[in-house]
Amino acid sequence: MNEKRILIWYRHDLRLQDHEPMYRAIEQKAQVIPVYCFDERQFGKTSFGFPKTGAFRAQFLLESVADLRNSLLELGSNLVVRRGFPEEIIPSLAQELEISAVYFHGEVTSEELAVESALQTALSQISVPCDRFWGTTVYHPDNLPFAVEEIPELFTNFRKSVEKKSLVDSCFLAPQKLPQLPDIDGGELPNLSELGLEPPKFDPRAVLQFKGGETAGLTRLDNYIWLQNCLKDYKQTRNGMLGADYSSKFSPWLALGCLSPRFIYEQVKKYEAERVKNDSTYWLVFELLWRDFFRFICAKHGNHIFRQSGLQGIRIPGKEDWERFRLWQSGMTGFPLVDANMRELAATGFMSNRGRQNVASFLTKNLGINWQMGAEWFESLLIDYDVCSNWGNWNYTAGVGNDARGFRYFNIPKQSRDYDPQGEYIKHWLTELTPIKGNLIHEPGKLSAEEQKHFGVRLGVDYPRPIVDFFKSVKANEKIYNAALELRQK
Ligand SMILES: Cc1cc2nc3c(=O)[nH]c(=O)nc-3n(C[C@H](O)[C@H](O)[C@H](O)COP(=O)(O)OP(=O)(O)OC[C@H]3O[C@@H](n4cnc5c(N)ncnc54)[C@H](O)[C@@H]3O)c2cc1C
Repeated sequence: MNEKRILIWYRHDLRLQDHEPMYRAIEQKAQVIPVYCFDERQFGKTSFGFPKTGAFRAQFLLESVADLRNSLLELGSNLVVRRGFPEEIIPSLAQELEISAVYFHGEVTSEELAVESALQTALSQISVPCDRFWGTTVYHPDNLPFAVEEIPELFTNFRKSVEKKSLVDSCFLAPQKLPQLPDIDGGELPNLSELGLEPPKFDPRAVLQFKGGETAGLTRLDNYIWLQNCLKDYKQTRNGMLGADYSSKFSPWLALGCLSPRFIYEQVKKYEAERVKNDSTYWLVFELLWRDFFRFICAKHGNHIFRQSGLQGIRIPGKEDWERFRLWQSGMTGFPLVDANMRELAATGFMSNRGRQNVASFLTKNLGINWQMGAEWFESLLIDYDVCSNWGNWNYTAGVGNDARGFRYFNIPKQSRDYDPQGEYIKHWLTELTPIKGNLIHEPGKLSAEEQKHFGVRLGVDYPRPIVDFFKSVKANEKIYNAALELRQK
């Protein structure tokens, strides 16, 4: 037997490449025991009663874990899979297998930290040390020009400082071969129905058929960057909404750690050296920095990100208006850009960044609904749900986060004309509006009785009338926001 046995607890880091816990364990010539726990708390309900992990993400997770297991098997090892609480399963495995240490990647938000801390306590009771590594961002916190507690509140200040003063570490090499596992039951992966979910149906209108796992993530990266050469045009295409390649679609693989952000960074640098270096290549890294930023902000502020008053402590009395919320959820607001995006989300588990910004703005700045309901709905459905990016962006769009500019809203009809000028995206998802020609596609609520007849689209029958007056509702919510801001400043 090897002298040392190190248990690697996999979480949102389902990859072999650039995996420090694995690298450090091998460096010590330890026998590694890779473990993944399906934690039933992740399959419960959110506070507003939505499934915490919806079917799209659950399927992606199952595929990712299966892929990791295959990769480990190919190297001579395996993935030990269990169902239950990591803080119970891991100490018990540690005793059974006489583990010398437990290594894992740390997280930064409350639920994940609670599990880590319960695990650390349980392990210390049986005198098994554990080491926590950082592996979720492009920049390692040790390389930042400030302590995490002093991260600038504004993204631009964070970015400029980091770009000027910080270096990105190289990726950790993936193992080439691994020792066999000791005699232990590997365990079966659960299926979706065991997790209380129905298998999701693939909708052919989806931007991409996302498949979980490092293998599929690397294939997507290879396709997008190298084979299709899309990176050189990213800045011009990134605000699109239709099709696989307007943006990278790396987010689901990043969220589960199937792709390392540092590896993507390295690939961009390689592309710049071998093909083109331009605004677009810079911009992909710029966007990855947003992701870094939200993670560090969560590490700095703890639970504030989840509070209704957000990072800035602005107590906006967001309504719990379920009737209107359901119209938003199901894409029945009478605002086609919002409705098309919400139906895409429900049908596929994905929505573009442009779409997310618009629907979040509409929920908060037009409907005046508590933004936490929207954030939880996204948490439930998004295939790329990432706790920091989701709650950070919702804070931002609700005007309670890292945004010094006060009440800002998206002019939805204008956004629709700017980003979907021919209404192709709208018609892709709202087939009932297909007959409408010209600019009216962006505001069908303005169709006259004659136009309704002409196009064969009856408002209130084939497609809903707008549920609010756009500018009146913005004004009303601006007043509420400003009053809350004033209260905070007193
Ligand atoms: C209300 C709201 C909620 C969101 N929730 C999530 C979420 O749960 N998970 C998630 O990964 N992203 C979230 N985003 C950010 C962004 O919309 C997605 O990362 C992006 O649409 C994913 O598509 P892509 O990989 O093709 O992005 P690309 O445009 O190709 O960008 C490359 C990568 O940069 C990162 N990135 C890009 N934009 C942002 C951003 N605004 N914030 C943080 N990271 C960014 C992502 O990791 C993304 O994969 C949210 C945005 C909003 C407005």
